[in-house]
Amino acid sequence: MQNEAMSDIANRVAAIRERISAAAQRAGRDPSEITLVVVTKTQPIARIEQAIAAGIVHLGENRVQEALPKIAALQHARPTWHLIGHLQRNKARNAALFFDTIHALDSLRLAELLNRARAESTPAERRPLPVLLQINISGEAQKEGFALTGGREDQQHWPALLVDIAQIAALPYLRIEGLMTIAPFTSDPQTTRPVFRSLRHLRDRLARHFPGIAWQHLSMGMTNDFEIAIEEGATLVRIGRAIFGERTS
Ligand SMILES: *Cc1c(COP(=O)(O)O)cnc(C)c1O
Repeated sequence: MQNEAMSDIANRVAAIRERISAAAQRAGRDPSEITLVVVTKTQPIARIEQAIAAGIVHLGENRVQEALPKIAALQHARPTWHLIGHLQRNKARNAALFFDTIHALDSLRLAELLNRARAESTPAERRPLPVLLQINISGEAQKEGFALTGGREDQQHWPALLVDIAQIAALPYLRIEGLMTIAPFTSDPQTTRPVFRSLRHLRDRLARHFPGIAWQHLSMGMTNDFEIAIEEGATLVRIGRAIFGERTS
């Protein structure tokens, strides 16, 4: 049974890699520009180890409390840990100390807390923490992130966003590397493609405003929609169910 399960996860990883390559080629992109972040929330250590055995290096969790024991248990494998979910301020310290990159930075206040935690850490960990700014492009009320929908209301949000970004960029122990978004939960490309395209356009616009920031990453695309996201420029895709199956909890 163990072996069967193992090959199952390895097979799914291989299948996803193929689909990533095919989507990249359709868009005239080099598949090596795209990093597969395997989302391990709700998965036990043994199954995560199977993904690692299949060559996966980048792991994503959306809750700090759930992630900490996994990070400790898998230390020997030296994976790169991505925090992909909304971060509460009282978890900022552990997030800054135990994660390698934060995808869902959604306020200046949170950035300041992450920066301070990193500043107070051991010299070895005092390197700048890579962060992505989460943007609520689809404008759904229940979604986290800086508000910027590409619509008319942006006239008021845009100047505020520029001020926040300037201040985050000035924090010495954080490094802005790009943007992240979550599309509406659907596999309909007519809904998701404009969301991903807007995030790319926003990135291009911010790159003109802040040429000193690299802006190299677009974290977008999940099981339902990662191929569309890659066609629209994703560099980090966050995939859980397509590798581990439907979550039961
Ligand atoms: C759970 C989660 C994912 C992975 O979603 P799947 O549908 O399982 O691929 C990606 N991003 C975030 C922010 C998530 O919370």
